[in-house]
Amino acid sequence: MGVTDGKKDRPALRFECTQCGECCWTRGEYAHVYVTQEDMLRMAASAGLETKEFRSLYTVRGDDGWVELDFPGGRCVFLDPVTNLCQFYDVRPTQCRTFPFWPELLRAGRWTAEARRICEGVGQGREVPADEVAERLETQRRADES
Ligand code: SF4
Ligand code: SF4
Repeated sequence: MGVTDGKKDRPALRFECTQCGECCWTRGEYAHVYVTQEDMLRMAASAGLETKEFRSLYTVRGDDGWVELDFPGGRCVFLDPVTNLCQFYDVRPTQCRTFPFWPELLRAGRWTAEARRICEGVGQGREVPADEVAERLETQRRADES
């Protein structure tokens, strides 16, 4: 049964995070969590640090010039090794907030096989309302362009 968002029918998408933590590790080409300036300000403020200090402690600059979170040993610097949970969940980067509703994982409004491959929560749990999907997609598009 499709969900109408005013423009077209989209299939209902199910998603529920199992907290497996897999998306907080580098996996093949998924090796980067990019940090926008807005993300940096929000996270630094939460940590009680100056932006410059936060950047120096927790981020690196990739070959493409983008600032991204550090992944020592392949694990995000903010993934708690004991609880397997994000230590900055409430203020995590946009890319983490919108996952797995990324444009490249939602072709024509449908999950790709790739989305199912990299996230075990895709296709599980509650039906996510079309307006929530659209909002996350748009947020990620804006971050990609910033
Ligand atoms: S890979 Fe998917 S299910 Fe696992 S922690 Fe990330 S969002 Fe949640
Ligand atoms: S910031 Fe948090 S949610 Fe994002 S990759 Fe790191 S541990 Fe995972």
